[in-house]
Amino acid sequence: MELDDHAEELASDLGVDKEEVKSDLQNLVEYSVPVDEAKGSLRRKYGDGSSSGGTTPSAKNVADVAPEDGNVTVTATVLTAGKRSIRYQGSDHVIVEGQLADETGRIDYTAWEEFGLEPGDTITAGNAGVREWDGEPELNLGESTALSFENDSLEVPYEIGGEAQLADLETGDRARTIEVSVLECERRTIDGRDGETEILSGVLGDESGRLPFTNWDPVPEIEAGASVRIENAYVQEFRGVPEVNVSEFSRVAALDREIDVGSDATTMDVGEAVRTGGIYDVELVGNAIAVRDGSGLIQRCPECYRVIQKGQCRTHGDVDGIDDLRVKAIIDDGTGTVTAILDDDLTEDVYGGDLEDALEAAREAMDQEVVADAIRENVVGREYRVRGHLSVDEYGANVDAETFEESDDDPAARATAFLEEVDA
Ligand SMILES: [Zn+2]
Repeated sequence: MELDDHAEELASDLGVDKEEVKSDLQNLVEYSVPVDEAKGSLRRKYGDGSSSGGTTPSAKNVADVAPEDGNVTVTATVLTAGKRSIRYQGSDHVIVEGQLADETGRIDYTAWEEFGLEPGDTITAGNAGVREWDGEPELNLGESTALSFENDSLEVPYEIGGEAQLADLETGDRARTIEVSVLECERRTIDGRDGETEILSGVLGDESGRLPFTNWDPVPEIEAGASVRIENAYVQEFRGVPEVNVSEFSRVAALDREIDVGSDATTMDVGEAVRTGGIYDVELVGNAIAVRDGSGLIQRCPECYRVIQKGQCRTHGDVDGIDDLRVKAIIDDGTGTVTAILDDDLTEDVYGGDLEDALEAAREAMDQEVVADAIRENVVGREYRVRGHLSVDEYGANVDAETFEESDDDPAARATAFLEEVDA
């Protein structure tokens, strides 16, 4: 039988367009799939339940899928399905990402074709590709995957849908649903991949915490002070912390209830906080063991606002610097160290003077290092409670401090509180 005849037969059996079937069939045969096997997988792809003809990779439980499997067949329930547009090999593709689960476990997947997956669907993915990401297996559902929808749903021990609290979101999460209050929101023009474009960015809050967000396709529901439900958001790292991304595929609806935004930051050991790789809002308690160079009275470039040395900006050359105050204090709690970065207001507090005072002191001593020295004198050896955004890069961990207060804790009381927490 010619390929054309096979296509004809399939098309009439399945009630689908012959040219479409033929091109699929041609593809598979070109990839050296035996014609009977190709026909079998097309029958499954186009929804003929009978698995006549051909073999597919062995069926596996989700928990047994391993990164080295190559291809597998799994039957699983769609927990989440989030659309996202990515640029791949120079053109835009809409992909669907989320998690699948059966009785034995959960697995992340990416669908490169429009299969129409929705949370709650139970599917069999024949010949799904397995790839490794961060040591874990993930499924790729693509052109060569024969996907069919099952009528019988599975009993999965996981929640279907992506409802989450901000504190639980992690970089890499897809298809999340959150109910949040918009705490801060500003409209910005950025140089996007398709030229200038308007976006919204700001901060979201819920009972569990706060996180920054970007809305790539501004919607009117997102404005400062609003309460909104956002479906199909994804989480990506930006400047070292997780950020909620609201895309053209997200659904945003106004909520008619107030969200009670928690005001407590998570308090953590320094070491534990650094190991997370970045947190938007965290509180750390530790001793200031040093004040780093580049603290006190500093000068910034008027163009890019970065700190300059001897009137020289690395990008803009010889510039007329703007005076500013800053502290970079190393905080150590015995489990690790971070550099707390204090802005001009917080620096005034620990210096005990403002910019004018600092300039005068520097003039008098004919050395601006006297400002840093005075801060060192005040700060080093004391215990501080610092709250802010923690990010980690190749040079170490930094906390962009929102507050920096001397800790009035009695160390013995803190130890007792800690022990009670452990006992609880
Ligand atoms: Zn500059």
